[in-house]
Amino acid sequence: MQHRIVVLGAGYAGAIAAGRLAKRLRREDVAITLVNAEPDFVERVRMHQLATGQRLKPRPFAEMFAGTGVEVRIAKVTGVDADRRTVAVTGADGDGELAYDTLVYALGSGWNPQGVPGTAEHAYEIAGRPGALRLRERLARLGAGQTVVVVGGGLTGVEAATEIAEARPDLRVALAARDGLGDWLSPKGREHLRKVFGRLGITVHKHFTVGSVEADRVVAADGTAVPAAVTVWATGFAVHPIAQATTLEVSETGQIVVDGTLRSVSHPDVYAVGDAAMAMGPGNKPLRMSCASGTPSAWQAADAIAARLTGGKLPHVSIRYFNQCVSLGRKDGLIQFVTADDRAVPAALTGRLAALYKELVCKSAAWGVANPTLGMPARRRPVTHKRTAAGSALREPA
Ligand SMILES: Cc1cc2nc3c(=O)[nH]c(=O)nc-3n(C[C@H](O)[C@H](O)[C@H](O)COP(=O)(O)OP(=O)(O)OC[C@H]3O[C@@H](n4cnc5c(N)ncnc54)[C@H](O)[C@@H]3O)c2cc1C
Repeated sequence: MQHRIVVLGAGYAGAIAAGRLAKRLRREDVAITLVNAEPDFVERVRMHQLATGQRLKPRPFAEMFAGTGVEVRIAKVTGVDADRRTVAVTGADGDGELAYDTLVYALGSGWNPQGVPGTAEHAYEIAGRPGALRLRERLARLGAGQTVVVVGGGLTGVEAATEIAEARPDLRVALAARDGLGDWLSPKGREHLRKVFGRLGITVHKHFTVGSVEADRVVAADGTAVPAAVTVWATGFAVHPIAQATTLEVSETGQIVVDGTLRSVSHPDVYAVGDAAMAMGPGNKPLRMSCASGTPSAWQAADAIAARLTGGKLPHVSIRYFNQCVSLGRKDGLIQFVTADDRAVPAALTGRLAALYKELVCKSAAWGVANPTLGMPARRRPVTHKRTAAGSALREPA
């Protein structure tokens, strides 16, 4: 009887986890099913590029996973029953249910309107492809001199504002930030950001906390208004509500609480990776929602599952940060080097070299997804703990 591993979500984390599991385990022992709502991989880190009219390389899962032994199922996950070990899905062939022995939950995240009035009606977002395509269509219809306000002074807001300003120099682009511009960066990084914003003519509204979004303006909590033909909302991400509706232990943010092997603290058959997981990193700080931590979390979970199934050694790798890679349009960038727990150190790379570095990082992230099994030694071990009639029986390795 094969051990059934179901991976939910084929973003960076889920796709990498599925591919790595296929490399670690023998086909005769496990059945790996990867469920995703869409038939192709979405490079979320390039959604600001998509929104500004750039073409992204199509990456169909059918090609990516051909010959790997991973069965790709295109369906929307509508629920998880973590006690019955089943997943409810709906797809082209109607509603269905998938049973699992081990579940890898990797449904990622979407935009986070934070309950601010008017966001749902009036704001645009770039957390996923449908939002980016909607903004792309709206930007294309804007005439010269119209104003775009990007709300959110974090990495996504900075990338969106610079990309739009570079692609459409005829527009007025502004950034509304709750704090200053790039406050968390090193002095060198901050200074570079200030220069690039100046060069691209982006207005910065500092210490501006948006209290509501209207059709043609954003209004701060203190009543100050800034005109906006288009408002782009980029104030962080929120996870999908599916995990919260289960008996899995979740954090206040709705992320699944996991241990150092990315295993649910409440349900040992469930692992969570990427944005969907509440995992602690260096300094006992939650890992930031990012590819930077999502990718190693997928490696870690896959290796832990394989170790537990085969009686091998559990991996003990601490997930850490090295840098924050920020695109500032296509020709400029900022690589801010950081401590293991993501605090800026003085060193930073700027300019065209940084843009190339960032492009390389994006390319290799997508390459890692498209080739999840390449570059790894084939160390397939036999599963020693196959599914029993009563469900999976996984032994905790010593
Ligand atoms: C514009 C932008 C720029 C970014 N830049 C960076 C960066 O430079 N560096 C960095 O580290 N991070 C960056 N990020 C963050 C990064 O993209 C995310 O943290 C990362 O994509 C998370 O990976 P994931 O696999 O957990 O989730 P996702 O990539 O969101 O993948 C989740 C997958 O699950 C699928 N899914 C969701 N719900 C369902 C459902 N109900 N049923 C079936 N399938 C479903 C989705 O279709 C998707 O394929 C950026 C994000 C954005 C939006």
